[in-house]
Amino acid sequence: MAASGWCSGADWAETQKRYIGNIGLKAVVLHVAVGGYAGSKRWLQTTSPSSSCHALFNNEDNSGEWTQFASIHDRTWANGLRWTLGVPWSPAARRPITGAKRALMAPWITPGLDPNRVTISIERSGMPTEPWKSAAFEALINFLQFIHLITGLTYVPGVTLIGHRDIDPVGKPFCPGPLYDFDLIARRANSADQTDQFTYVVERGPARVRELASTSSLVKRTIATGQTIHINGINYQGELLDMYGVKSSEWADVGDGWVWLPLLRRST
Ligand SMILES: [Zn+2]
Repeated sequence: MAASGWCSGADWAETQKRYIGNIGLKAVVLHVAVGGYAGSKRWLQTTSPSSSCHALFNNEDNSGEWTQFASIHDRTWANGLRWTLGVPWSPAARRPITGAKRALMAPWITPGLDPNRVTISIERSGMPTEPWKSAAFEALINFLQFIHLITGLTYVPGVTLIGHRDIDPVGKPFCPGPLYDFDLIARRANSADQTDQFTYVVERGPARVRELASTSSLVKRTIATGQTIHINGINYQGELLDMYGVKSSEWADVGDGWVWLPLLRRST
């Protein structure tokens, strides 16, 4: 099964403005679009400016609507930065980033590195002075959890969860502005794999724990009817997902093997 890198719940609108594949993931970068949802979506996906991002969230109403433009395994073009003799240069402000401003940059940014190559970028419609609406915020958290679960990235504000300002503090100091609570977002987004969300009871036992997710695979042990077990599958929007984020209707990962899911009933 291949990892697709596309998150359910989004409107998928693939952009060609991207790098295929990646050389790692250092951080997720949050932006504010300074524009409406429909206009920003069009601009990010199709038209000529050579900028793009992975996802855009609609903060105009409480629809929770959002668009994904690129697989999280590819890289987009949202964080322009140039280097001259080891000194970072802001394309937005057209001047170097030095002194106290240089110290504000995320710690993993090293001379010569194009931050676009190692980041996932997320935009939200509206202005920096606009607070998050709850539906847009919850949709953002779901996408961040999806990224966390698939890539293993743990969000640390200022390091692995940053704003555009942490890449270009000279040209983009107000992206995304003061109303993004990075501590709260990181805490929520990191909590996706709490095991209390995955408690199941064996309803039709004995349930065989198999080495692989297949009825022909070796049985390692059995679990009796009525026993409670913890599932290592990924819970996303109330659904059981496998390690690639694909909805699983067949097999549940119980740590040392796999159990056929129809034998189980969710207990929480
Ligand atoms: Zn930005």
